[in-house]
Amino acid sequence: MKTIDLVVPCFNEEEGLEHFVTETNKVIDTLPGYSFRYILVNDGSKDKTYLVMKRLAAKFDNIKYISFSRNFGKEAAMYAGLQHCDADYVVVMDADLQHPPAVFPQMLEAMEEGWDCCATKRDEREGESFFRGAFSKLFFRLSNRMTDVKNPYGAMDYRMMTRQMVNSILELSEVQRFSKGIFSWVGFNTKWITFKTVDRELGKSSWKFSSLFKYAIDGITCFSVTPLRFTAVMGAIIFFLSLIYIMVTLIQTIFFGIQTPGYVTTLCAVLFLGGLTEMSIGILGEYIGRIYMETKDRPIYITKFSNFEDEDYEEK
Ligand code: UDP
Ligand code: MG
Repeated sequence: MKTIDLVVPCFNEEEGLEHFVTETNKVIDTLPGYSFRYILVNDGSKDKTYLVMKRLAAKFDNIKYISFSRNFGKEAAMYAGLQHCDADYVVVMDADLQHPPAVFPQMLEAMEEGWDCCATKRDEREGESFFRGAFSKLFFRLSNRMTDVKNPYGAMDYRMMTRQMVNSILELSEVQRFSKGIFSWVGFNTKWITFKTVDRELGKSSWKFSSLFKYAIDGITCFSVTPLRFTAVMGAIIFFLSLIYIMVTLIQTIFFGIQTPGYVTTLCAVLFLGGLTEMSIGILGEYIGRIYMETKDRPIYITKFSNFEDEDYEEK
């Protein structure tokens, strides 16, 4: 019998977690040929998510949990889950049922056909504001062009993977993780399936627009140095243009004498170059900041409690 591990990052999911397990179990019961196990990762929730997890683990013996010492972010939670799985196939999914377990049969079919990964993308972004939709479209286009990462528009984290692929993902042990990029970077054959997005039933989304913006910057800078090259190219172009301008002004001065007016030109040049320099320093800073964080080589997450047998994190 093939085994499947479900990695579920949970942050403030006390309201919906039990419902999630109940709904997922309904689908699991229709797939008797496979043995499922949950790996719930409590990402430092402020509510009673951990207690709900413990209760669920007492009720079902296929539920394992890891609880972080604080909030480390969804990426860290996914990494922790992946590190603890040992099944033939591994699924990463959200705890809010926005990643419907109903597509398991479709995913399994793809895996049995020999695909290494069966990933999902959303069909339509219903219920999403125009601004947010336009922003994410722009991001997909930019990041596909600037990085090695090729994802279709609407690609989501929700996917089923082989052990081999999971092992490769774990080899990328960077602290600043951008999963969509990592999934794509490691390669392997991915089949994309589509489903209609559903609204979160219980609890609320923990993403703000500012964190989406940060997510977009991460998506590009973690996988590409194109912005750095862009500043170098801009610098070169401006250097040549200014050489031409200097020659023209010199010739003018030599043959026609000094013409004092030049206030606007000077002001424009100073402002333009100042702005450009600031921007370039900012881009440099983004990368240096990332180097700084990576060189510290800190752990991606810290466990406080867990019910994995080989770990000694149980409450005393
Ligand atoms: N999540 C997490 N840590 C965080 C934020 C979110 O583990 O810091 C989990 C959350 O519990 C959920 C999943 O990541 O299972 C997706 O979060 P959410 O539904 O808030 O995001 P959205 O669906 O809006 O992308
Ligand atoms: Mg959600």
